[in-house]
Amino acid sequence: MCVCTGKCPGFEKMDMWDFVNRVRIELPVEYGFIHPQLCEEDGDRFFDDFLQEGRKYMVAGCAPTMQYKLFRDAFQKVGLDVKKDLIPLDIRDLSTEQAFNLVEQTLENHEKDE
Ligand code: SF4
Repeated sequence: MCVCTGKCPGFEKMDMWDFVNRVRIELPVEYGFIHPQLCEEDGDRFFDDFLQEGRKYMVAGCAPTMQYKLFRDAFQKVGLDVKKDLIPLDIRDLSTEQAFNLVEQTLENHEKDE
């Protein structure tokens, strides 16, 4: 999850800790965590250290079109294709339950497509 500094009104309806805890415990993901601002310079440094070729990453945060633009270079740098290897979810203005359901549904759809 990217939480937009934690002060963005778009995340006011949810409990981010509850959300990420439910995702990492209840859904078939390898892990879950919260980053404060992935589109800042330290986000780039984090991606440099973190991204690995051959994996897929789901980021719950802002609009997919934004995420594709903001993360394209970081993904490209390690040989990932942002359009294929990033699963971006817009969870702004959702409640904890709605955001959790969106992740669950997206993972189910993704499994069917694989
Ligand atoms: S990547 Fe999106 S959600 Fe994260 S800080 Fe930037 S604008 Fe906000």
